[in-house]
Amino acid sequence: RLPTVAIIGRPNVGKSTLFNRLVGKRLALVDDQPGVTRDRREGDGELLGLSFRLIDTAGFEDEDAASLPGRMRVQTEAAVREADVALFMIDARAGVTPLDEEVARWLRTSGTPIVLLANKAEGRAAEPGIHEAMAMGLGDPVPFSAEHGEGIVDLFEALRPHI
Ligand code: GDP
Ligand code: MG
Repeated sequence: RLPTVAIIGRPNVGKSTLFNRLVGKRLALVDDQPGVTRDRREGDGELLGLSFRLIDTAGFEDEDAASLPGRMRVQTEAAVREADVALFMIDARAGVTPLDEEVARWLRTSGTPIVLLANKAEGRAAEPGIHEAMAMGLGDPVPFSAEHGEGIVDLFEALRPHI
């Protein structure tokens, strides 16, 4: 079977933009599934010759702020448990938020290899956020731009040892 890569992170950091870039039209249409899988999308991803199953942990746009961390945690942990490697995405323009720190704490105990992706890194506005990300205890962040396709080769290099 294909190795599994999960994209995780709080809402609005750019997870689905990356998913769409790597999966393109090879999206497996999954309708109404029970439980946590209802909130995710899966597809066959491809990156410079690497092939993998990609999980996009989805948004909670309709959620109130108080219930977000709990629901995110259930879905994130389920995806990370299945994954051979997890792409933990932060928004480098927003910097490291308390919710990012909380997710980082779950991840450090997971045992799954983590690649820290500092997204929205095009331009100078991301530099402080990339710096903050270095202190998260998850290794050096990969500066990335899902929207502009910057950092693809660095992402490839970071993923390759795990798949
Ligand atoms: P998700 O909630 O984590 O799945 O985030 P989305 O993929 O839906 O993206 C949230 C917003 O961030 C959208 O408006 C995207 O266009 C924007 N976005 C995604 N990637 C980038 C990026 O690399 N740079 C910038 N500036 N914006 C981005
Ligand atoms: Mg999304």
